[in-house]
Amino acid sequence: MLDSTLQDAFDRVLRRNPGEPEFHQAVREVFESLELIQDRHPEYQEHGILMRMCEPERQIIFRVPWVDDQGVVQVNRGFRVEYNSALGPYKGGLRFHPSVNLGIVKFLGFEQIFKNSLTGLPIGGGKGGSDFDPHGRSDGEVMRFCQSFMTELHRHIGEYTDVPAGDIGVGAREIGYLFGQYKRLTNRYEAGVLTGKGLDWGGSLVRKEATGYGAAIFADEMLKARGESFEGRRVAVSGSGNVALYAIEKSRQLGGIPITASDSSGYVVDENGIDLELLQRIKEVERGRIHEYAERRGEGARFVKGGSVWDVPVDIALPSATQNELDGTAARTLLKNGVLAVSEGANMPCTPEAVAAFREAGIAFGPGKAANAGGVATSALEMQQNASRDAWSFDHTEQRLTQIMKNIHTTCLETAEELGRPGDYVVGANVAGFRKVADAMLA
Ligand code: GLU
Repeated sequence: MLDSTLQDAFDRVLRRNPGEPEFHQAVREVFESLELIQDRHPEYQEHGILMRMCEPERQIIFRVPWVDDQGVVQVNRGFRVEYNSALGPYKGGLRFHPSVNLGIVKFLGFEQIFKNSLTGLPIGGGKGGSDFDPHGRSDGEVMRFCQSFMTELHRHIGEYTDVPAGDIGVGAREIGYLFGQYKRLTNRYEAGVLTGKGLDWGGSLVRKEATGYGAAIFADEMLKARGESFEGRRVAVSGSGNVALYAIEKSRQLGGIPITASDSSGYVVDENGIDLELLQRIKEVERGRIHEYAERRGEGARFVKGGSVWDVPVDIALPSATQNELDGTAARTLLKNGVLAVSEGANMPCTPEAVAAFREAGIAFGPGKAANAGGVATSALEMQQNASRDAWSFDHTEQRLTQIMKNIHTTCLETAEELGRPGDYVVGANVAGFRKVADAMLA
């Protein structure tokens, strides 16, 4: 139960935003942490900060018509939620997936506010996307969809206004089509209007790897704080997109043995450690399915159709697929198998029941807004490079990313300590992220 002020505010959020369960889930989790600072900040209540924080500054919904390869007109729905600009221009990805609706975009945008705040860089929070499904679509279809999407979106964004990037279903190919159309419509080479660009045209080294690297680095920091490390540890990673691939790579670099990957058809277990090159070829280049990995890898690798990747006994779990992919049952299985650390590479991959189980058990749990902030942080570094018409080396950019992740870890730990909840990264991330935005709004 929340205390009465927070419960009232939460009830109002429920009433004003019906039928958006993921959004309610994200708000509730933040409110639960805010109970710890209610008494210390009467000014937040006095100035209606809670309600202002929950209401997006602007929500844009638009029609996206496009023509498929058969010459048939298709219509999708586009979204951009410009949530909070207290700290900087709205910043956050675009998700193209059939599950996208306003509630999903709002949950992601809400999380993004505090995640971006935690990076320490000057970026506000926003998110967007479409219910368009790029799976099975030709390059030409994806291009025509992206061009139509940008034909409306371009009037709402800009390097000082709102800076989209990728998320599920939006990678370098889509960012290329979107940027090309923005340039054509505006006649401006405004590199800082989008991040995740290709390396030849304003993109940043390490951006592609950043979210996955960051999630593994955050796990490493949590382990180190407990006198542990990745060395020789078995690691389960879910997903096989951008986040998962590079969470696997960094886990290996840190001395761990990443043994799983998954997609919507099932998961693979490779006792010898995932062959990253093979997985990359199948998922990034050929856009194939995960079972092909087990078939081509042979001995030691197996494909499990359906099922839960969290049944595999591991020491470290990096959920890197999508929201609510790891539930209470999966959490209990992981705990029974002795998991030491869970670091969220995806946004809100653990259900509230799973998070409660991890926190109760006292294992190291890194919530997404802290653990996966490396992606958006490196987007902000891309914006810095664009603004100064510069291009940094891989090493320099990776050093900056690593330092940012270490700083976020320290901030969460110190905030949790200050609130009398040592080791609780959930309250640390929520309170530290929230306070900075709230104070900027008051100022
Ligand atoms: N989609 C990523 C996230 O959830 C990155 C956003 C960005 O780079 O703007 O944080």
